[in-house]
Amino acid sequence: MSEILSSEVVIVGGGVIGAATAYFLCKEGAEVMVIEADDLASGASGACDGFVSLQTKMPGVHLAMALESARLFPSLAEDLEVNIEYNPCGGLMLATSQEQMKELRARAKALKSGGLEVEMLSPAELKEYLPEVGKGIKGGSFCPQDAQVNPISLTLGLAQKAQEMGATILRGCQVENIVVTNNRVREVHTTAGNIHSRRVVCAAGIGSNQIGKMIIVDVPVLPQRGQILVTEQRDPILKCLVSGAEYLGTKANIPELLPTDEEAAKLGLGFTAEQTASGNVLLGSTREFVGFDSNTTPEAMNAIARNAMRFLPWVEDLDVIRSFAGLRPCSPDGLPILGTVKGVKGFYLATGHSGDGVCLAPITGKLLSELVLDGETSLDIEPFSLYRFK
Ligand SMILES: Cc1cc2nc3c(=O)[nH]c(=O)nc-3n(C[C@H](O)[C@H](O)[C@H](O)COP(=O)(O)OP(=O)(O)OC[C@H]3O[C@@H](n4cnc5c(N)ncnc54)[C@H](O)[C@@H]3O)c2cc1C
Repeated sequence: MSEILSSEVVIVGGGVIGAATAYFLCKEGAEVMVIEADDLASGASGACDGFVSLQTKMPGVHLAMALESARLFPSLAEDLEVNIEYNPCGGLMLATSQEQMKELRARAKALKSGGLEVEMLSPAELKEYLPEVGKGIKGGSFCPQDAQVNPISLTLGLAQKAQEMGATILRGCQVENIVVTNNRVREVHTTAGNIHSRRVVCAAGIGSNQIGKMIIVDVPVLPQRGQILVTEQRDPILKCLVSGAEYLGTKANIPELLPTDEEAAKLGLGFTAEQTASGNVLLGSTREFVGFDSNTTPEAMNAIARNAMRFLPWVEDLDVIRSFAGLRPCSPDGLPILGTVKGVKGFYLATGHSGDGVCLAPITGKLLSELVLDGETSLDIEPFSLYRFK
């Protein structure tokens, strides 16, 4: 890159959040450049499940944001040229004890008052969705608004559409520094040269803390590893998303729903299962703080497989063909970090989406576009401000 580049907006990171932000900015006619150190969807967005899960959100602003995001998926599925495999299949959360059922019932009540449809199901009623479950399953909650997408296709589809609308995407290009003078972002230094820009969006996932350091701001995002098993392809065997209540316990740190088994607690084990459009079943997952290590481990693979058979015994008949691990960009409270930074005009945060980035990508992209171009947002993002941690 010999010439000096410039762009109205530079987005750091080509994961689902950066791609969604580029898409919505381009829709408004902005000039956008996405800088990606590796390749699109090479981070968490390419190593995750595709749950657009609403019943796993905390009642209040978290759920409200997820509901807004969920409403955007059908039109994205229409608008993007890549098939994002959007499937409004609904989601089941299974309980293995009466205590868990009690907690799920209380949550269902709270979620309903936030506008979500959730119903409690007895073991007999579960059969409509899952003909065969483990003997220890005491029932569960079903949310018909839960849905599924292919997260890689979603990321690539958003980026491709943004590119068609004029965005430039630089792959294999790392942001090394951000120059701020007179309290305003001026320039982005990259491995491919310098880019003049007065607006920079940090959508760098687990790289966000490093990006923050460039402007002397602490962005509290830590990598949290999640491991997943992938089975052989089968004709449709799962009608909907399925998870266990302990998954929610580890995700949202709900004491009543945390795993009691010592190994499961150590791994942050929680059961998830979804069947992709191509027929593979993805079985998850773990929540581990092990730094930037994205390797899979035999302990987790064994634990995930054993746990899956507790919920769906027929999983034993499926061959596992591979495994992968991704690093969630985890914020201290599990909620995204969105908004501006004090004292640095033109710098915006779109990070920390933890285990919800796929689900929250559309609304994040829309809100960031509004914030960058108009200085205000259609939904109050104050609860997601960086300064809630101070
Ligand atoms: C096992 C697992 C299961 C999950 N399941 C779900 C689910 O079912 N539903 C859901 O909603 N969410 C899920 N998630 C969470 C979801 O994957 C993340 O929240 C989401 O992908 C985060 O997207 P992102 O764009 O912020 O980060 P990323 O996808 O990690 O993208 C950040 C990008 O920034 C780039 N970058 C970093 N630093 C720099 C730099 N200095 N210069 C240039 N580029 C840089 C990286 O290379 C990377 O590509 C899951 C995560 C895991 C690990």
